[in-house]
Amino acid sequence: MAELKTEIRYLKGIGEKKAQAFHKLGVFTLYDLLSFFPRRYEDRSVYKPIALAENGESVCIRAMAADTPRLARIRKGLDLVKFRVVDESGMAEITYFNQSYRKDNIVKGESYVFFGKMELNGSRRSMVNPVCEREGVQGGVTGRIVPVYRMTTGLNQHSILQAVRQGLSECGEQIPEILPEELRRREQLCAARYAYENVHFPADFQALEIARRRLIFEELFVLACALGKMREERVRESGIRIAACDPEEFYRTLPFQPTKAQRRAVDEALKDLQSGLVMNRLVQGDVGSGKTMVAAALIWAAWKNGLCSAFMAPTEILAQQHFSTLTGFLAPFGIRLGKLTGSSTAKEKRQVKAALEAGDLDLVIGTHALFSADVAYKNLGLVITDEQHRFGVNQRSALIGKGQRPHVLVMSATPIPRTLALILYGDLDVSILDELPPGRQKVDTFAVDESYRDRLNGFIRKLAQEGRQIFVVCPMVEENDELPQELKSAEEHARELREAFPELKVACVHGKLKPKEKEAVMASFVSGETDVLVSTTVIEVGVDVPNAALMVVENAERFGLSQLHQLRGRVGRGRHKSWCILVSDAQGEEVRARLDILCKSNDGFKVAEEDLRLRGPGDFFGSRQSGLPEMHVADLGADAKILQRAQQAALQVLQEDPELEKAGHEVLRAQVERLFQSNADSFN
Ligand code: ADP
Ligand code: MG
Repeated sequence: MAELKTEIRYLKGIGEKKAQAFHKLGVFTLYDLLSFFPRRYEDRSVYKPIALAENGESVCIRAMAADTPRLARIRKGLDLVKFRVVDESGMAEITYFNQSYRKDNIVKGESYVFFGKMELNGSRRSMVNPVCEREGVQGGVTGRIVPVYRMTTGLNQHSILQAVRQGLSECGEQIPEILPEELRRREQLCAARYAYENVHFPADFQALEIARRRLIFEELFVLACALGKMREERVRESGIRIAACDPEEFYRTLPFQPTKAQRRAVDEALKDLQSGLVMNRLVQGDVGSGKTMVAAALIWAAWKNGLCSAFMAPTEILAQQHFSTLTGFLAPFGIRLGKLTGSSTAKEKRQVKAALEAGDLDLVIGTHALFSADVAYKNLGLVITDEQHRFGVNQRSALIGKGQRPHVLVMSATPIPRTLALILYGDLDVSILDELPPGRQKVDTFAVDESYRDRLNGFIRKLAQEGRQIFVVCPMVEENDELPQELKSAEEHARELREAFPELKVACVHGKLKPKEKEAVMASFVSGETDVLVSTTVIEVGVDVPNAALMVVENAERFGLSQLHQLRGRVGRGRHKSWCILVSDAQGEEVRARLDILCKSNDGFKVAEEDLRLRGPGDFFGSRQSGLPEMHVADLGADAKILQRAQQAALQVLQEDPELEKAGHEVLRAQVERLFQSNADSFN
């Protein structure tokens, strides 16, 4: 008798090759196999009389072979098998291409079920290459709702389906019931066995719905429990307590008045720092909302208490920019700043590291170089990471491991819809900067197609003549990516622009440049030497060039809405009227509708909600960027209602049983631990 942890090779029909193909899909054990849920379903449950099937309709017909199949060799490499079938209502012609074995499998006078697309030509009906089987066969794929699985080479739908069928029969009974009985009853969720059976082989659509609802709930519930537990553990951790201080002292040195939202965020974080517990706070704010100043205020407070801070940025360019901004905010107090990035020279690195170890620096700004193993900190009290979802959560935790439980502040410019924030940042406290500094202007946004190219070039020329600078962003082109012809790489596009504007200085920055080269190109744009900067999305986050007044995005359809919103946030940062032009030749309602959202709204949260609704969270964050484990059934965007219930249920369960050690919670606890283990990358 097989167990859930048995390897799939154990199954009949699965040899070394197929097993390896399954491994590619992440399926190793029978439990993995049973948890490998269909991607979609095909409704083959309804039989139609031949005469009622419409042109182009995918249908099941039950019919008798009216003659013996004829095999015809058309030419080398092309043969076909043809025969007619009849039911009470009419007749259809069946054709198979290059499946000569069908000739011997179909017997005149016998009945079969065919599933395929009916084609109607005048009154003649025909099907090409339909699925064919005898009626009522065990594990059949007609006359029912049929699962369609994600595939890989070496497997086909049939072999996956057979394996799952076998797996379910072998150990369907052993599938553990993760949900506490009482919760299951309260939420009216079906039993595990029923859910697994019907998610793979639904008896009907209602059964499928019941099964899916339970599995989605379960997945989100386990996730919520895991995050809730993490938060609990953190909340109880004691941290370095800093003395009360008055941020006015810091604000007085600023060239501007902090916004109310900034003050609130600083107050909330200071309260954390003074609580004696470890701070884990997210500051979320749209581009330009002034997150850097919030960070500076906290670094100042840490410094007043003799603590060192580390500030981690996702790119060299940003680290550089934060370094100069923070120097402006903090150097007047005598705070000692250092910089540590991948492109620092060996000597610089040695010096900064020595200074950190000796306690001669109060703040170090850098990229992930900050947490390489050979960096030791004296008195590290505060860790700040910018643009969080570009870091794996594990990177953040590597830095956290550096000090004696330093406080953590995470800054994110991606407005995250509330439903998602609940889960994504389930382990953090959140401050929201929901107010932009005064005087910010709306960036007028337009979506145009190629026919607008000449006018766009004219506009670029005019702005450049007025002394403004222009960003042009092209999608990232991977070398071996098979992409449509019309997709231009940044370099190519820069070449074209140089031809179009011989009088302007056009520079190009992309992922393949060395850090030093990148920095040089960026520096020349920041200083105003370059007129037009063509780039891939490496500039997406953070860079501040107040003189830039136009953002052009090429192939805008290739970007997510939130990403486009971020890009748009690169302009309109100074006193100049600014524009964003989204160029896309993609046809189709959907693309238009998406770009239209941006033209209509400047509110990052609204854009994010729409983006999530249209694309789902996987795309929303880009694969694996969310730091969350991969979801098998749940869709964090579409299943927001269930998410809320699951979250509530998880909190309730954890409140009664924080360690999940009471009777009835054994399986849940194991599952939560399993999630932590299999996602050691994504969780801390
Ligand atoms: P983001 O939240 O996108 O990181 P920044 O911190 O880069 O925003 O701030 C954007 C710009 O706004 C910077 O030039 C910063 O100096 C300025 N700024 C921040 N706070 C205020 C404020 N309260 N009033 C005016 N300007 C501000
Ligand atoms: Mg920023």
